[in-house]
Amino acid sequence: MTDQNQPRPLPAPGSQELQGLVPDVETRAVYQVLYESREAPLGMGEIRNRVELLTGKANLQTDRRLRSLRTYFDVPATPVAGKSNGFAYPLLGWKPDADERTARKAIRAADRALTLHAYGYRCAACGRSPKEDGVKLVIDHKVPLDLGGTNDPENLQPLCVEDNHAKQALFADHEENAGALRGAMGLPEVHLRIGELLKALAGQPVPKELIVLVAREENHGDPTRRLRELRSLGWKIAFSKRKDGRRVRSFYSLEHWESWPAGGPQAAVVRLERARKRAQRRRDD
Ligand SMILES: [Zn+2]
Repeated sequence: MTDQNQPRPLPAPGSQELQGLVPDVETRAVYQVLYESREAPLGMGEIRNRVELLTGKANLQTDRRLRSLRTYFDVPATPVAGKSNGFAYPLLGWKPDADERTARKAIRAADRALTLHAYGYRCAACGRSPKEDGVKLVIDHKVPLDLGGTNDPENLQPLCVEDNHAKQALFADHEENAGALRGAMGLPEVHLRIGELLKALAGQPVPKELIVLVAREENHGDPTRRLRELRSLGWKIAFSKRKDGRRVRSFYSLEHWESWPAGGPQAAVVRLERARKRAQRRRDD
C-alpha cells in the first residue's frame, strides 16, 4: 500500500510507467496536454488544439481519449465561472482504485516467458520475430483486461510493437462499442465472435480490422472466408469500401441474420462444406 499522507505522484508524460498503462500514443498526447496544464486547466477546444499540434494529426477524438484516461486518473469536468458552456479538465491525480488496476495489469514473469516460448518468439499477428526481423515483442492480452480479459496464460500472446499499437488504436477508436466488443470477444467460436459483433453493431459499417481483432485468429485469420461462411448460414452482410487518406478500407454491415444452428456455427459450416463437395463430386462423375 502507498503512504496515505503522500499522494502517489503522477507519471511524467514520456515515462515508461505511462506507456505501460496507456499504450496508445495519441491518448498519451492528451495526457501530456492535461499534465502540462495542471496549474491552469484547459477547456476541450484548447486541449484538442494542443493535441493536434503535438501529434500533427487532426480528428483524434480527443474527448473520447480523455474519457479513457479516467480509467486511471481523476480528470473531472469542472465548470468555469462566467462561461455558458465552459468546462475545464484539471488532471488532479490518480483515481482512488488506480493501484488495484495497475496491479491487475501486471503479468507474471513466468507467464511472460511461457507465452513467448509457446508462440516460438514470434508476433501472433504477423509472425515476425526479433531474431529474423528485428521487431520488438510485447505481451498482449488477447481480450483486453478492460473488456473482461484475464492475466491467465491462455489470454496472453506476443505481438510486435506495431501490431500492438494498431490494436490499441483500434480499441481507442471504438471505445463507444466497448460493450459489443466485450460481449463478442469472449465467445468460444470464431463465427460466434464475428457474428455477435455484427449483430451488436447491426446496420453500421464495421471496419474489417475490427472483425480481425474480434475474430482472434492467428496471422490475422481469413475474415473474408469467415464472412462467406456466415453468408452460407443465411446471413446477409453488405460490403463497402471507403477511401481513408491513401488507404482503402473495407467495411461490412449486417442486414439480416439467422439464429445460431444447434451444435454451433462451426459444425454447421463443416456440414455445409461437405454437402457442397459431395454435390460437386456427383456432378463430376
Ligand atoms: Zn506483428
